[in-house]
Amino acid sequence: MSSDCLFCKIVNREIPSEFLFEDDAYVVFKDIHPAAPVHLLLVPKKHIRSINDLTAADSSILSGLFMVARDMAKEQGINESGYKLLFNVEKGGGQEIFHIHLHLIGGWKKK
Ligand code: AMP
Ligand code: ZN
Repeated sequence: MSSDCLFCKIVNREIPSEFLFEDDAYVVFKDIHPAAPVHLLLVPKKHIRSINDLTAADSSILSGLFMVARDMAKEQGINESGYKLLFNVEKGGGQEIFHIHLHLIGGWKKK
C-alpha cells in the first residue's frame, strides 16, 4: 500500500469503483477514459511501481495477471475477435499511474 497511490486507494475501496472482477490478488475495472469499446485495467493488489520494479518473487503475480486477462477477454466477448494487452512503463512510456497495471483493449467493430 502506498498512501498517495490512486490505484491502492481503489484497491482498498477508499475511492469507489465498480470492479468487474476481484480476488485476493487482483482487481479489474473500466478505464475512466476508454481508448476502445472495451478498455479494462487489470491491477494487482500489491503496490509495484512499474515493470521495472518487478522482482523474481513477483513472477506469479505477473503470470496470474495474464490468466486474468485471458478470462476477462472471454467474459467481455472479445477473445475471438482479438484484443491488445499493454503495459506503459514510466513517464516516457506513457505511464501516468505508478502502480503496475495491464490494459486490456479491444471490441472494435469488424470491417
Ligand atoms: P497508464 O497511462 O498506463 O498509467 O494508465 C492509467 C490509466 O488509468 C489511464 O488510461 C487513465 O484513463 C486511467 N485512470 C485514471 N484514473 C482512473 C480512475 N479513477 N478510474 C479508472 N481509470 C482511471
Ligand atoms: Zn499503489
